[in-house]
Amino acid sequence: MTSPASGTDVATALPDYAPVPRSAVGPALNDQGYYVGRVERNLYWVTDGSYQSAFLTTKDGVVLFDAPPSIGGNIRRAVDEIASANGVSNKVTYLVYSHHHADHAGASSLFDKNVIRIGHEETRRLLLRDNDPARPAPEETFGDRRTLKIGGERIELAWRGPNHSPDNIYIHFPDHDALMLIDIVNSGWAPISICNLSEDIPGYVAAPAIALAYSWKHFIGGHVTRLGTRDDVTLHQQYMADIDASVRKALVSVDPTPFFQKYWDNPWAAVSALFDAWTDASAAPVIEKYTGVLAAADVYTRSTTFWVMESIRLDLGYGSYVHP
Ligand SMILES: [Zn+2]
Repeated sequence: MTSPASGTDVATALPDYAPVPRSAVGPALNDQGYYVGRVERNLYWVTDGSYQSAFLTTKDGVVLFDAPPSIGGNIRRAVDEIASANGVSNKVTYLVYSHHHADHAGASSLFDKNVIRIGHEETRRLLLRDNDPARPAPEETFGDRRTLKIGGERIELAWRGPNHSPDNIYIHFPDHDALMLIDIVNSGWAPISICNLSEDIPGYVAAPAIALAYSWKHFIGGHVTRLGTRDDVTLHQQYMADIDASVRKALVSVDPTPFFQKYWDNPWAAVSALFDAWTDASAAPVIEKYTGVLAAADVYTRSTTFWVMESIRLDLGYGSYVHP
């Protein structure tokens, strides 16, 4: 019988990674564990260091954009703090969903029944399907585009095809020089597992160019500790392009034959080892190039590379071989 590992044993067994570059670090959190700051004029953002949401204070109340459960009750505190400092209403009257995922919408139910929830029609369909009481489905939906005019403020919502999720939308604040696009670019950081856990990789890879086609200066990406700039989105694009180029090279240079020779009676063992070899060969030069440039490039590049590789093979048909 073995005794359970202590917390200290687990911690000492965990790998070390490259230090987080200063460029990736945003403002410090307050004692309650959040930071709220102005994006521009009456548009604000809130973070807990891992997640981000945003809100507009208007003469018709507060319009909230996403309600991540990890920020949870601190969304209310951040709104109250800003509203009382500026002598404006703290009543949340609208909540706009960026997409249906629980990690960005799971504190929706903290806001009362009188809040009007707005989202893409696919967000409504998925939330009705998932039937999670923490995330009431939006009553107000749209198809491709919708302009919101609330309390004299203009917000442009657009669905431009599936990317991270089938329902992820672009939220443009033309009068605040800002764009909110969640779970595509983590400003200063590499994407987490398999391209930020994305479902449609061609759509995920295309999204930054769509984002850059809008006019804005401030980027709200939904994750980590600071706002982004156009340079952050361009750097992410370059990182993804480098992964793509490296994958295409590895797919034609790593020979599958020895894997199938070794595991001649077990094709899954051969495929598993070959996928690992392709992924390692593809990821290595990208990890080297971006360590110290994008935080956690050494933690997560391999996972993202694997997912890009599968998309290049399966969505794009690159390297596909038809038996004669
Ligand atoms: Zn998501």
